[in-house]
Amino acid sequence: MKLKALRARAFVLQRGRCYYCKARMWQATPAELGLRGRSSRQFKCTAEHLVARRDGGRDTCGNIVAACLYCNRLRHARKMPPTPEVYVTHVRKRVDRGGWHVAFAIFE
Ligand SMILES: [Zn+2]
Repeated sequence: MKLKALRARAFVLQRGRCYYCKARMWQATPAELGLRGRSSRQFKCTAEHLVARRDGGRDTCGNIVAACLYCNRLRHARKMPPTPEVYVTHVRKRVDRGGWHVAFAIFE
């Protein structure tokens, strides 16, 4: 499967929610969620490789999850990107405290 198809598949399996922060994501346009403006961009659905490409991770359904642009970017912005397990704990902790980008997010 192509990456785009894998991402779409993961989106459906995750019921449109980000693998990390659980916020709802959009695929083609923020209007799908009734969002607009600059803050809506961070909820764009992206394909996240659990094992990164440079570490040998492939484009397979077991290795691709759907993550919002915000979570995806911040994970890979680090010099040593944390493992998905470590990162998911980190993100959830922040979400539970009302941090991360929950002020703009839709969870229901
Ligand atoms: Zn997210």
